[in-house]
Formats: sequence, C-alpha cells, structure tokens
Amino acid sequence: MNTYSQKVYEKVVADNPGEPEFHQAVYEVFESIAPVLDAHPEYEEHAILERIVEPERIISFRVPWVDDAGKIHVNKGYRVQFNSALGPYKGGLRFHPTVYLGILKFLGFEQIFKNALTRQHIGGGKGGSNFDPKGKSDAEIMRFCQSFMTELSRHIGLTVDVPAGDIGVGGREVAYMFGQYRRLRNAFDAGVLTGKGLGFGGSLVRTEATGYGAVYFANAILETKGDSFKGKTVLISGSGNVAIYATEKAQQLGATVVTASDSSGAVYDPEGIDVALLKQIKEVERARISEYAARRESARFVAGAKAWDVDEWAATADIALPCATQNELDEEHAKKLIAAGVKLVAEGANMPTTLEATNLFQESGVAFAPGKAANAGGVATSALEMQQNAAGQSWSFEDVDAKLHAIMQDIHDTAHSAAERYGKPGDYVLGANAAAFEMVADSMIAQGLI
Ligand code: GLU
Repeated sequence: MNTYSQKVYEKVVADNPGEPEFHQAVYEVFESIAPVLDAHPEYEEHAILERIVEPERIISFRVPWVDDAGKIHVNKGYRVQFNSALGPYKGGLRFHPTVYLGILKFLGFEQIFKNALTRQHIGGGKGGSNFDPKGKSDAEIMRFCQSFMTELSRHIGLTVDVPAGDIGVGGREVAYMFGQYRRLRNAFDAGVLTGKGLGFGGSLVRTEATGYGAVYFANAILETKGDSFKGKTVLISGSGNVAIYATEKAQQLGATVVTASDSSGAVYDPEGIDVALLKQIKEVERARISEYAARRESARFVAGAKAWDVDEWAATADIALPCATQNELDEEHAKKLIAAGVKLVAEGANMPTTLEATNLFQESGVAFAPGKAANAGGVATSALEMQQNAAGQSWSFEDVDAKLHAIMQDIHDTAHSAAERYGKPGDYVLGANAAAFEMVADSMIAQGLI
C-alpha cells in the first residue's frame, strides 16, 4: 500500500469498528491499486479514497412479520446506497442470518467496482436482512418479503436504486417484493427490481447469468494461454444459482465438475455432477445437498465439509470455482489446490477467497480471477433486463447470452490490458481493480465534490 491508501485504510478501520469483511474488501482494493494512485496524484488531491469508502447513504429499518403460528418476529433490514457516480445504485438483497451492516458494506463496496466493469452505467449498492429463509413456509417468505418491501419501496426507483437477488433471494422472493412494490405505488415499474419472473418483465438468462458469466470469464483467461475447459476436472462449491449454472456451462464446455456443497456439507461425484438432479433437489425441492448423494450411486457426501476440505477431492482439481460465500477458501485450502496443480481459480461468489489464499495463488502462478470481474455476469444481465424493460422488449435467450458473453469478454480484456499497463501482466486482481477504480474516480472528479 502507498502512504495515502495506508492512511485512509487506517481511518476506515477506526471509523468502522467490528466490520472485518468491509475492512478486508477495502484492503484488497487499496493494496492492489497502489500503482494507480502513484500514477494519478489527482486522486489524492480530490480525496477520492476518503469519499469512495463512505457510502452515500445507509438505510436501516425494522422488518416485522408474523409466522404461521401467529407469532411476531422482528428482523433488521438494510440498504447501503454506496456510490452512484456511474448510475443508479444497483445490487442484490441478501437474506441470511449472518447479514449485518459490515457484510453489506463489503458487498456494496465490491459492487461499485464490479458494476463499473460491466460498463452498463450502474452504481453500487447492496441490501438485505438477517432473516433466515431456511425452513420457512412459502406464506412466511411472502409476508417477510412484503414487510421488507413496504419500507424499502420508499428508497428505490428506476433512476434511484434497483435491487435484485443475492444469497437467500431468488425468483420467488423478487416476485413477492415486486408485487408489494406495485401495490404500494399503484404503478408497474418493471425496471425497479431485476431477477423478475419472465411473465412480468424478467429477462431470459438472468438465472443462469452469474454462473455462465464466471465460466465465460475463466474460459477467456484459459484462451490467453491456448487452453480451454475441455477435459478439465473442476471443483465448484455451493449449490445456489451461481454454482448450478457454472457447473452446467463448464460441463457444456467439456469439463467434469466433481463437487457441489451447501452449509450442511459437500458431495463428490467423480462421474460429473448431474445438473438435472442438482436442480431438482435445490431449485424444486429446496432440500439439503446430502439428498444428491442419496439418489446418485457415484456420489459421496461428507457432512460439514467444503469442496476443498477433503484431501483426495482437492487433489483432482485443475480448476476451482468458489461459488458459495465469503471467505470459504483459505490458505490451507489454497496450499492443497496448488499442490494438486490447480491452474485457475475464478470467484463465482463475492470474496470467497481470503487475502492470504489469494496471495498464495498469485505467488504460485495460478491464474486468479477476482469476483468483481468473474461474477459480474449476474449484475450485467440485470442491466440488460433494465434495458429490455425500458424499451418494452423481450430479447431471446441467444441474444441475451451473446450480450453476456461479450460483456464478460470485454471485462476480461479490460482487466488484462490494465494489468499490462501497470506492469503486471496476468494480474487480474490489479487489472480489475485498477480499471474499475479509474472509471469511478474519474467520474467522481468530473461531477465535483459530492
Ligand atoms: N447479487 C448479485 C451480485 O452480487 C447480482 C446483483 C444484481 O443483479 O443487481 O452482483
């Protein structure tokens, strides 16, 4: 870190106590953009770092709801409107018991740069609740979503803030929230939420986009080395929509994906994950991942394990795609994967790799794609959904997929050339952070002190 970023980082830690994930996300960006700050003294003159780490607005609210037994519950609800220099705040809502302000600030901060890389004119935001959707009935989910939106509806809008899904928020939740928004406003503003159902303004490919996009990005890296997914053994963590569609696309490209996981454990299937079965268990039945092993002879389940915990599984990895949640891949995991000869790690989730593990991969010459570049396909396709809504159009699957592919290739090329420009070819962490930071910082300077 240079002296300017070090000073601001220390202030971030002092001013935002008890938020280690936010500190980590800031550290990762600040550390990598040292050469950018050295080359651009105007960023310090305009206090860009001091401004960029401070959300433009944070909304915190009460979410009361009633369970099926008539008992009242209260959860915390938030929306962090982090930076709108490039467009309306855009980013998902996460419903998970681990959600607190520090998690949403880390996610919102990452989102600023991720969204910049898509070049779709979207600012960065994130929101959510410490509500745990697990084990809740459909009616309870609906009442929670309605209560959450009753407050959130005051703070969002087509040109203001456009939320979407994230962990714990998928098509069902977005639909309930959209219904409540429409009722409260007496207006059908399709573009106010993305990830909607296809019948009311949703976009084809939005469900697949983050997973497909991560594989397109990883494939673009492989192509620079004359390589491809064909014949590779891939370890994927998670079993939400990112993991499912990363698995689907990697297998379409000729790889064998051998793992999937959820918070209860992981499965290993040397014959390749059966995506139809995984979808049935996770998307239709909303059951635990152990069900996969129970129904598939070639698969094994280890309770409490992550995909990279089990030595013999890790030893098979050519490519690893962490697609579950933050800090799920640590230094010990990285050592195992490096020993196995892993060639590429691309983050499908947001910040799934710890700083120590990221450094190890990079020092060992493993190609490493940071989430803000590799998983930008989801939010990019949300922007395509907004464009369709604004134009009153519904594009075909092939059209949206081709646009997604082009955006991921462009993000790759942008990050690749920025890394070269700053003298570290192949460093996608530097490349993605530098290119995104320049776009946001230059727009902030142009728009004056706000
Ligand atoms: N939650 C996703 C992300 O982390 C998607 C956000 C969106 O579509 O707005 O980027």
